[in-house]
Amino acid sequence: MRKSLALATLATVAALTAAVFSQQFPLRQNVERLTLGPMRVEQVKDGLYVIRGPFLACGTRGCRPNGPDDGLIHEPGDVAARITPAGVILIDDKYPENVADVLDRLKSVTPLPVRYLLNSHHHGDHASGNANIREMGIDIIAHKNIRANFLRIKQPGEPNIVFADEAAVHLGGVEVQLLYLGRGHTNGDTVIYFPDLKAVHAGDLIIDGMPVTDYAGGGSALEFVKTIDKLLAIDFDTLIPGHGRVMTKDEVRAYKVRFETMNERMRDLVRRNVPKDQLQTLAQARTQLGLADLGWDNSVSTTAWLPSIGRYYDEIAAAR
Ligand SMILES: [Zn+2]
Repeated sequence: MRKSLALATLATVAALTAAVFSQQFPLRQNVERLTLGPMRVEQVKDGLYVIRGPFLACGTRGCRPNGPDDGLIHEPGDVAARITPAGVILIDDKYPENVADVLDRLKSVTPLPVRYLLNSHHHGDHASGNANIREMGIDIIAHKNIRANFLRIKQPGEPNIVFADEAAVHLGGVEVQLLYLGRGHTNGDTVIYFPDLKAVHAGDLIIDGMPVTDYAGGGSALEFVKTIDKLLAIDFDTLIPGHGRVMTKDEVRAYKVRFETMNERMRDLVRRNVPKDQLQTLAQARTQLGLADLGWDNSVSTTAWLPSIGRYYDEIAAAR
């Protein structure tokens, strides 16, 4: 009797915990509604700004001949600017054609020059403006794998100062840290931490949409969630994502829960021997992985994620 009562109590506690958990961390993501338009600068905290946009149809570079149009509005990577009394520390720079606009938006919040550029990762929509920045004589600091990826894909503007685990820039009495927490979206994802503001720029480790694992760029879906765990161990309350709106730490926690849920669903498909070729189309992936429940069935990055689904399946299968 006592034992069954204890079990019943345990079951109740478990049910309650699950209910509280799903309330706190809803699986469905509320994706921001965007409208087409030019780049804009928004204050995140005192001395910290995010530069978003331009907001374009089709893809991060707009509509191109034969380019896929998913009907959504896309933007190149979020740029962050930390203003110090001695100048600006810029994080990421979008595409080369965006750099002049980024610097122009920056002028609306400070007359001070950019002193350093830091990269979150090597992808063109975040860092291919590097070549323009280097031409201005500004040093670019990044993880060594980011530089290696620039050289591997022959993308101009490779960073000229590299680090392995962590680095810090001290400028005008302000400290900005660069932290390598492990693989995820690529093998070079760097979290930029603003300790005095309890804020981070997470690059594409966190985006307002489906997380994309770039296997060719050294990414890993399994390492990804571990890296987000390490990110969550940092003392921050505000996060600038790789794409999209500024987020709270609770939203980042919920993001990780959704990612783990998707990995668990992929594990289940592998366990049930569902063949990989039944996951090739968007409709199949949506159904098999329950993407609607996760809020990622029609996000800005879902079509960019789809081509990697075979390697995602292989990674989960190999780890069993
Ligand atoms: Zn990326």
